[in-house]
Amino acid sequence: MSATEGHPEAVRFDGASKKYGERLALEPLTLRVAPGEIFALVGPNGAGKTTAIGLLTGLLAPTTGRVMVFGLDVSSDPLAVKRRLGLVPDRPWIWPKWTPREALRFTGAVFGMAGPALEERIETELEAFSLGDAADRRAETLSHGTRQKAALAQAFLHDPDLFVLDEPMVGLDPAAQRSLAGRLRERTAEGAAVLFTTHHLSLAEEIADRTGVLGEGRLLAAGDPRDLAGPRGMRGRLSEVFFGLTERS
Ligand code: ATP
Repeated sequence: MSATEGHPEAVRFDGASKKYGERLALEPLTLRVAPGEIFALVGPNGAGKTTAIGLLTGLLAPTTGRVMVFGLDVSSDPLAVKRRLGLVPDRPWIWPKWTPREALRFTGAVFGMAGPALEERIETELEAFSLGDAADRRAETLSHGTRQKAALAQAFLHDPDLFVLDEPMVGLDPAAQRSLAGRLRERTAEGAAVLFTTHHLSLAEEIADRTGVLGEGRLLAAGDPRDLAGPRGMRGRLSEVFFGLTERS
């Protein structure tokens, strides 16, 4: 089933919060992302971005509230949710002895893909991420950016309805960044949704339909990154209002 035939909400945080011990890392978060939308989550170090992604992907359980993906509760329906997700975590990991092609075969098998169709699709992803020469080299011999491309190729392989990408541009060269942005736009035009984190405010302005600004575990603003409402009547581009939102007076 494609995202467009699915639920009207790709992502729904319903008052989802997270405590690590006594530390409240994420205050109750309410947020929606629609199919076809690219949503960027930005915020200073420690703001709670990776924690929110952990809740969205089921890697963390919410302390309060719930998180839904296409109408499925991430806590009670984790496998059905994972089938629809393409995830690149903050520290993507490929078994060091595997090549990107082998890692893609493994991912394909996990998602029930097999045979010539899988091999063909792997070739498409290797090409899309310019992994050509690196495709058959062990991950331990590859540069950081090349391993990041392999992780992204894995996320795209099964045509997920929701991409969840923690700092996806880190380590990518400018050509790879441009190509990733283009591919995400293609997939959202087909109805997929994207939630990604970034420290690059200009990137959020360029490719996100909406942006959420987190500060100290709180959603401080959400909206069009080219026209975001800030504190004290401030309004403008994300890069103009970000510091007003996140710097403590
Ligand atoms: P960054 O931009 O540095 O990646 P972030 O916005 O992704 O930061 P999180 O990693 O979600 O932030 O962290 C939010 C808060 O939760 C921080 O104060 C962090 O120290 C704390 N935290 C994160 N993981 C744990 C953990 N496993 N145990 C205790 N505290 C944690």
